[in-house]
Amino acid sequence: MSRPLFNADLRAQLLAAPYTGPQLWMDRAVLRDRVLRFRRALPAVYPHFAVKCNPDPQVLQCLHEAGAGFEIASPDELKLMLELGVPAAELYYSNPVKSREAIAQAVVAGVQWYVVDCVEELHKVHALYPQASFYLRLHTDNQGSQVALSGKFGAGEVEAEAVLQAALACGADLAGITFHAGSQCCRVENWLSGIAAAKQWFQRMLERGLTPRLLNLGGGFPAEYDSVVPSIETLGQAIHDALQGMPASVRIMAEPGRYLVAEAGGLLCQVIGTTRRGGQRWVYLDVGVFNGLLESITGFSYAIDASREGPRAAWTMAGPTCDSMDICAEAQPLPVTLQEGDRLWVHTAGAYSNACASRFNGFPLLPVRLIG
Ligand SMILES: *Cc1c(COP(=O)(O)O)cnc(C)c1O
Repeated sequence: MSRPLFNADLRAQLLAAPYTGPQLWMDRAVLRDRVLRFRRALPAVYPHFAVKCNPDPQVLQCLHEAGAGFEIASPDELKLMLELGVPAAELYYSNPVKSREAIAQAVVAGVQWYVVDCVEELHKVHALYPQASFYLRLHTDNQGSQVALSGKFGAGEVEAEAVLQAALACGADLAGITFHAGSQCCRVENWLSGIAAAKQWFQRMLERGLTPRLLNLGGGFPAEYDSVVPSIETLGQAIHDALQGMPASVRIMAEPGRYLVAEAGGLLCQVIGTTRRGGQRWVYLDVGVFNGLLESITGFSYAIDASREGPRAAWTMAGPTCDSMDICAEAQPLPVTLQEGDRLWVHTAGAYSNACASRFNGFPLLPVRLIG
């Protein structure tokens, strides 16, 4: 299937132009396309972008204009949303454990929906805002996802029942269910088992006199890095079928992060040194684990274009800092004749890149530029 990818002419121009330091380029046409495709593939599911995945204000603005909603996890993400003009009532606070200060700020701003996965958090939010509406995060299978997210959060059977009973006891408006399939999830079964569990919990809620109003399918929808992944259309069809029979009172949403932004981004960077050590080719770049390529140490590998042509060999690819964990790939295919000053274009770099960059060791944060 043909799909808009990052503007190839611009990519070629940037690789050839005078170099002014590493930059993350984001293509608005791709961002818009991904929102549209998500909505077409899952017409009954409203996308709320996970702000943590790329909090650049221009990226958020573009997604907002393309019709995406948002999911937040912190006071600063709330602030970004308010500056963008997104009504607080349309935001979902999906961080399962929040400080009292963070909750208080969200309440003052007008956020209505809060996730919980334990009784303590339900009581914490309910005490600050008795009218709050809650969605319960269930523990679900994260098998087959690149980054499992079910270890840190998610109520099991026993905890979920305790949250339900606590809500009934204090009169809290527990009205939704959520789960997270795991990030870069290629197994549609993770969503299907989450939806099946949600249906069971909705039944239990109805039996106890609570009316389910929200099903939040979480994030995890995959982007295409250096290998093929199931398309959103394929995942969407199976998810759509599984959603049949949901009570009409239930609003269905999801929290795509990576899917909406990863392929819209390209990272322009430069080779600052090369050498051979123990027979192995080493290349050092001006970006690495700490200032743009954090996910390279969580199992992601990237397709990379170079300003230099020619046959390729496997390189160990490292970042510019003095930390030994700043190694992005052990066997990155790059031109054999690669040398200092050559420029590289890292594809699919729009997710968790600038979002996770630090100034460690004195290297600058990754500037973000938009086109399209
Ligand atoms: C990180 C996160 C997401 C986005 O996950 P992706 O894998 O980037 O789609 C969605 N919801 C919650 C609660 C998250 O923590």
